Amino acid sequence: VASCVFCQLLSGEIEGDILYQDDEVAAFRDINPQAPVHILVVPRRHIPSLAEVGSPEESLMGKLLLTAARMARQEGLEDDGFRVVINTGDDGGQTVDHLHVHVLGGRGMGWPPG
Ligand code: 5GP
Ligand code: ZN
Repeated sequence: VASCVFCQLLSGEIEGDILYQDDEVAAFRDINPQAPVHILVVPRRHIPSLAEVGSPEESLMGKLLLTAARMARQEGLEDDGFRVVINTGDDGGQTVDHLHVHVLGGRGMGWPPG
């Protein structure tokens, strides 16, 4: 989608710190990190949000989560732990309408989230 910042990042139209990519998913550092490690994992295909996924995305969703876990391990977070978040819609605090999984770590997280 031409107006989508993550589609632009994946196509190389804008600069991005891409850590991993294959034909289905990509992972890159968040431009405004909320923790010492803050990575976003996204499908290459433009899917607006978690509210839009269904059975056809079953394996893709698995791949997104597995990639999130692999990125967390790659950043050395497996012992101390980390948090995986999918903000969805207005109440969920979603600001970019291209499905993304946040991987946050390197500090203790509070609960409940704000
Ligand atoms: P959301 O608020 O939708 O859950 O998360 C969107 C995230 O995308 C935010 O954490 C924001 O910092 C990040 N973000 C927005 N624009 C860009 C960009 O151009 N490049 C990168 N790497 N991250 C971005
Ligand atoms: Zn997009």
